[in-house]
Amino acid sequence: MRVAFLGLGIMGQSMANNLVKAGHEVTVWNRSTGKQVEGARAAATPAEAAQRAEVVWMAVSDTPAVESVLFGPDGVEPSLTEGMIVVDSSTISPSATCKFAERVARKGAHYVDSPMTGSKVAAENGTLLFMVGGEEHTIERLKPLYAAMGKKIFRMGEVGKGQSTKLVMNLQIALIYEGFAEALTLAAKLGVDAEQLIPLVNASMVKSGVVEYKAPFVLGRDFSANFPLRLMRKDIRLALDAAKEVRVKLPALETVEEVYDLAIEDGHADLDYAATLLLLEKWAGVEVKGQAA
Ligand code: NAP
Repeated sequence: MRVAFLGLGIMGQSMANNLVKAGHEVTVWNRSTGKQVEGARAAATPAEAAQRAEVVWMAVSDTPAVESVLFGPDGVEPSLTEGMIVVDSSTISPSATCKFAERVARKGAHYVDSPMTGSKVAAENGTLLFMVGGEEHTIERLKPLYAAMGKKIFRMGEVGKGQSTKLVMNLQIALIYEGFAEALTLAAKLGVDAEQLIPLVNASMVKSGVVEYKAPFVLGRDFSANFPLRLMRKDIRLALDAAKEVRVKLPALETVEEVYDLAIEDGHADLDYAATLLLLEKWAGVEVKGQAA
């Protein structure tokens, strides 16, 4: 298929690369210059990338970024034609998503919100999970692209439901990781060895995919970004905003948001969200250590 891929960050770079490897005709665009994908054509603007594309796929930071890529100067909108599909794999506001979809529909194009989970490694391996909102027949047309980038898609309902689902998924990831980080901090202070604790966690009902994925990085003191802390804070805010819209109170998430704010004040915005541990360690006056560190 002819795909315009917009946004070559941690996720988009590998996703576009996997589309090229699967034989699709890919044109890429990134806001700052210098990022490329071998085998793809590079465009100077989103509008140029989208010309003649069957599908425009976005993986950019946040709601304003998607708005600007679609509707800003040089945005995709003038290049939209009848039957084209706009897919958004960024994590953004569900209510803004519905507005963007309406505006795209005025040009006869379809909109699918398709946020993903799986982090950097799954983007590289083509094993992402997508949670999708949109019409079934439109999603059907995207199957060859999903097959190149992911291992499974979950259709959650109409447009907006993919983003709503993503927020409730990341709410859980943020809280589960924070539980793990607090446990490690207390364990260190009480003299319990993290190397011994983690096999117990993994053998018990405390086991989780989040801990399995993050523990090796934490024990190796590798806080480089798989999923940047600043983006997880964005998602926490999006979840709290969505909760406010429907008058739901989320006290644990509100507290964790404060931890993220303080971690950002400490200069950890571009590290992985696992670096919220650094703040807990600072407060407790300990450091969690593994043999690999
Ligand atoms: P990233 O590495 O920070 O990349 C962000 C991308 O967005 C870059 O290409 C950046 O361009 C572009 N961008 C930012 N602001 C923009 C604007 N105003 N206009 C146009 N482009 C803009 O982020 P990522 O990790 O790839 O994440 C992309 C999206 O996927 C985010 O919504 C994130 O929440 C979501 N996500 C990430 C992960 C993960 O593990 N990393 C997992 C699931 C979902 P520049 O290069 O010019 O800065």
